[in-house]
Amino acid sequence: METLVPKFVHRALIFQRSLVFHRRFHVPFAQTYSHLRVVGSSRPISTCASSARSVQYAEPEGKEQGLHVDAEFHLYNTMTRNKERFQPLVAGKVGMYVCGVTPYDYCHIGHARVYVSFDVLYRYLMHLGFKVKYVRNFTDVDDKIIARASKQGEDPVALSARFCNEFHVDMEALQCLPATVEPRVTTHMSSIIKMIEQIMENGYGYVLENGDVYFSVDKYAEKHPTYGCLAGRDFDENRAGERVAIDERKRNPADFALWKSAKKGEPAWESPWGLGRPGWHIECSAMSAEHLGPCFDIHGGGMDLIFPHHENEIAQSCAACSESRVSYWMHNGFVTIDAEKMSKSLGNFFTIREVLEKYHPMSLRLFLIGTHYRSPINYSNYQLEKASDRAYYIFQTLEDCAHCLSSNADAGSPMSSEDNACIEKLQSSFQYSMADDLLTPAVIAALSEPLRIMNDLLHTKQGRKNKSRLAYLKALQAEINQILEVLGLLPRSLPQVLEELRFKALCRSNLSNEDVDIQIKKRAEARAAKDYDRSDKIRDTLASQGIAVMDTPQGTTWRPCIPTNMSD
Ligand SMILES: [Zn+2]
Repeated sequence: METLVPKFVHRALIFQRSLVFHRRFHVPFAQTYSHLRVVGSSRPISTCASSARSVQYAEPEGKEQGLHVDAEFHLYNTMTRNKERFQPLVAGKVGMYVCGVTPYDYCHIGHARVYVSFDVLYRYLMHLGFKVKYVRNFTDVDDKIIARASKQGEDPVALSARFCNEFHVDMEALQCLPATVEPRVTTHMSSIIKMIEQIMENGYGYVLENGDVYFSVDKYAEKHPTYGCLAGRDFDENRAGERVAIDERKRNPADFALWKSAKKGEPAWESPWGLGRPGWHIECSAMSAEHLGPCFDIHGGGMDLIFPHHENEIAQSCAACSESRVSYWMHNGFVTIDAEKMSKSLGNFFTIREVLEKYHPMSLRLFLIGTHYRSPINYSNYQLEKASDRAYYIFQTLEDCAHCLSSNADAGSPMSSEDNACIEKLQSSFQYSMADDLLTPAVIAALSEPLRIMNDLLHTKQGRKNKSRLAYLKALQAEINQILEVLGLLPRSLPQVLEELRFKALCRSNLSNEDVDIQIKKRAEARAAKDYDRSDKIRDTLASQGIAVMDTPQGTTWRPCIPTNMSD
């Protein structure tokens, strides 16, 4: 996950470059890929040996089969630099592979962004009625794992197993649904070796004296002028722009390892080339083919994976099986701190655990999807405070609504046409925004008006007089809940999440519930003594600590707020 080529990644996104590239090879994109596009709804029959295990898809819960949208779903495809209408290879089913983590430490919030982004996609596809097979791997053998394990005197396999478990803990906290399959390198060695053998048989690999096996980029590019298309890179530039130390044993500096011969003390597996372990890229080619077949719908990951990981994955998959094809390549943007990418290798990162010590997981999730998945997102405490405040408002409104509905048995009058229009507006805004390449910030913004109406109906004199109030509240509640479910923001228990949000706010301000109660009591005493300067000062001090005091007919209470002395 950490391999970084920022300069190239930046360049990769400049569309003009890919045009230049295609002009040079006289292969425009439309021509290059049109012959590969699968027309109709049947999955192409593969002649490749790496046939998929029987593909199991997740059933969408409580949904009828088939699509039920007004807006057609469009996804941005990194390969074509265009938003394209989503058409699965097999009608009603989606195969999706997302590159997973290398488990040698706790995940940082850059990882959280990847898996929350693809969790929203997963949930949305199921909401549309698709059966989805979501494959997300663990790179559980890697240089970083071996280095960390040896530094800590721990067995590398045990270390990676431990951090696979920690990854699951983080994912559960963030309400990311479990993937359908989580293949690990250590349990897929035979399919990896088999794929390397196919690559060798087809003439795209070579073996060094020590048993290292390399992929020959020259051999591949000779027959596949599309090499470099995903990253929008010129093949010649690959050579000239190589930033890694030149390894004289390689035929081309851009060649990459398919198999690494064993070094002393490292975990190793038997292979036709001797004891060793796989290179990084080959695992995803092999495991995606094993679980989804050579052709599948969506392949995703962070944008730092576009080059070299995904570009080389395409090369390996096509070198092993000429029919290999991914329909949509999706990449999410970075999390930045002061406009620099957050990553372990740069040392400017926060782990998910560190953030969750201070902020609720739903606040972090709301913060992450408050920006479109392809845009960069800048992390700051202020932004997390804003997201926490918003989360509290959404959940408090829903809790008040649930309380009101449960304590009123009489349904009242049916909704007016005006009420219906508001519900329809929310529905269509959700459908069109999500269908437009998962425009989650627009969906979140579209919740503002319905939530305001809900609060009016619940708490204002005029709202309470509305005859269709209960029917309207019920309809608003159902719509908002469904949207939150697709965004992965529907809590298991509203009272519990509100309590947890209050608890996090107290932790951030270094106050206890008792401390706040004492201040509220002192403020009441000051007010009783008509010492308003003092009572205001108490209120303002609490507000600067993120505690908003509220006077209600039932007495004085408090809720978390953005600390008044904080700015972005
Ligand atoms: Zn991968």
